[in-house]
Amino acid sequence: MKKHNFYAGPSILSQYTIKNTADAILNFADTGLSVLEVSHRSKEFQAVMDEAVALVKELLDIPEGYSVLFLGGGASLQFCMAPMNLLRTKAAYLETGTWAVNAIKEARLFGEVDVVASSKDANFTFIPKDYTIPADADYFHFTSNNTIYGTEMRNDPDAGGVRLIADMSSDIFSRPVDVSKYDLIYAGAQKNLAPAGVTIAIVRDDALGHVDRPIPTMLDYRTHVKKGSMFNTPPVLPIFAALQTLRYYKELGGVKELEKMDLAKAAKLYDAIDSSRMFEGTVTDPSDRSIMNVCFVMTPEYKELEKEFIDFASSKGIVGIKGHRSVGGFRASLYNALPMESVEVLVAAMKEFESKR
Ligand SMILES: *Cc1c(COP(=O)(O)O)cnc(C)c1O
Repeated sequence: MKKHNFYAGPSILSQYTIKNTADAILNFADTGLSVLEVSHRSKEFQAVMDEAVALVKELLDIPEGYSVLFLGGGASLQFCMAPMNLLRTKAAYLETGTWAVNAIKEARLFGEVDVVASSKDANFTFIPKDYTIPADADYFHFTSNNTIYGTEMRNDPDAGGVRLIADMSSDIFSRPVDVSKYDLIYAGAQKNLAPAGVTIAIVRDDALGHVDRPIPTMLDYRTHVKKGSMFNTPPVLPIFAALQTLRYYKELGGVKELEKMDLAKAAKLYDAIDSSRMFEGTVTDPSDRSIMNVCFVMTPEYKELEKEFIDFASSKGIVGIKGHRSVGGFRASLYNALPMESVEVLVAAMKEFESKR
């Protein structure tokens, strides 16, 4: 049976990505070798790295003066790398979910952290909008999409001249971004790009080198800028797969087209939730709703049927819709690679289940 993959991460990849990666595992760039067994310094892999960097720049329309890095360690390593390289005395953070909480914890190791606003007391069901970013902050950090709670900031915030850092792990490439507003954007690849194991960092070159603390070589962005992400062995296979996805994104028409498709998919599912008597969304302000991760639950009256619905959905080939344990209910992740057809199958399953009750 055809599977409909709604996992939050690692998550669905395009068939284009999976097939080309599978082919290269058998024979990479006509070398007669597997991509798993070639030197990262071979000219064939250097070409992969160069094209991947060029495509990230093209797709996100990155201006001059920025470097695109492919790093190990996950987005979680960026939680400490960012302040280690960019926090001099004080940084401002917006607390919108578990990943933001983790980022704040790491930043506190390097300086003063001003949490300008938080929705923690409301279990992160909305994005706080009423806050002031101190003008003397070295930067303002936010999570553009809260993967666990299904809230999203789809506009580049205005930080009033304070430099911006964003964790875009779960919504990068789902909309155009004004990169010139940012000093650093980072994203673990396993949500919207590639298998786990690589993280993209887009860093403004002249933002680096202004802190006094010693930085271990591997944790210094300048090392990776200087060496083109080849200081040490980079995650070769995830980078190869990322390149396939980037080519596919370009072929589909770039991030503007991807955004249109993502908006249409999300609208379809949110409409179904809003028009149902059995399901309801968990995000309180509709303008905060994520188009990448749709979180919903059963209304109190039907609450005890949640487990049954997951089994029913799985009988239709739907996988990965169980909500994160801190929210409960359901979470349907609608990343770029998920086809509209899968959303239609989920919506049909919801309607059928509801009509049987
Ligand atoms: C998944 C995720 C992370 C953590 O990524 P790792 O690669 O597992 O470290 C961080 N931030 C956001 C927004 C995420 O969705």
